[in-house]
Amino acid sequence: MRFWEAEEWIVGTTPPLIRIDPICDTGVAAAFSSLRIGGVSRPPFDTLNLGRSVGDEERNVLENRRRFAEAAGIDLNRLHLCRQVHGVGIDIAVEGGPTLHPDRDGLISKTPGIALGVLTADCVPILVVDPRTGAVGAIHAGWRGTLGGIALNGLRAMEEAFGTEPGDCLAVICPSIGRCCYEVSEELAAEFKRRFGGEVVEGRRVDLALANAFQLKEAGVREIWVCRSCTCCQGELFFSHRRDKGRTGRMMSVIISSPSAS
Ligand SMILES: [Zn+2]
Repeated sequence: MRFWEAEEWIVGTTPPLIRIDPICDTGVAAAFSSLRIGGVSRPPFDTLNLGRSVGDEERNVLENRRRFAEAAGIDLNRLHLCRQVHGVGIDIAVEGGPTLHPDRDGLISKTPGIALGVLTADCVPILVVDPRTGAVGAIHAGWRGTLGGIALNGLRAMEEAFGTEPGDCLAVICPSIGRCCYEVSEELAAEFKRRFGGEVVEGRRVDLALANAFQLKEAGVREIWVCRSCTCCQGELFFSHRRDKGRTGRMMSVIISSPSAS
């Protein structure tokens, strides 16, 4: 397990983005996470809000998405997203199929040029690539999804659909709320401790990213990178649902299979 900070991988595109180096360096996929910088939305969605259902003006979100897509080199017509219902369901994203997946929180694909996105403002975005088969996955894990094992569901779906073996996979956990700021009920903290061990809990504060990383490690994923930046602490870089009391924008983490073949 390796740790990274958002600042280390920020690239000076317009708008600036986090380039997920370990995934881009495989040569079979590309991946990026957005920051809140370089968009057109007004407070409390300032400025690069990429979420459509948070109360922001539609035309601003569309302009922000256009800017993000251009900087990340993705085709918006081939960007697949989930409705994100804090469940554990996974879909396969295919060419020509619907690009908005209801009742799902994870997507997998092996189709060159298809982009899989996760929208977050504290929850844990997990990006997975299998360099052997070229399969990719994008997963949204809040506390419910984490306890429900959505990361494992994603790996299992890749195995069934594409013959992926966890031992070949590389996973990157993108910016999410840190243990510093994620206080939960006593009952929930106890449940996390029981499931994932004392390392993920401190008092009533839970380390969601680490809980997901432990699941991936347990499943045998070869290389796991965990972001240690906190969306709640770093208000200049990130939206945070908790810090902004629910009225805020969304960042997008995206992974593209075989970007050069598209
Ligand atoms: Zn924090």
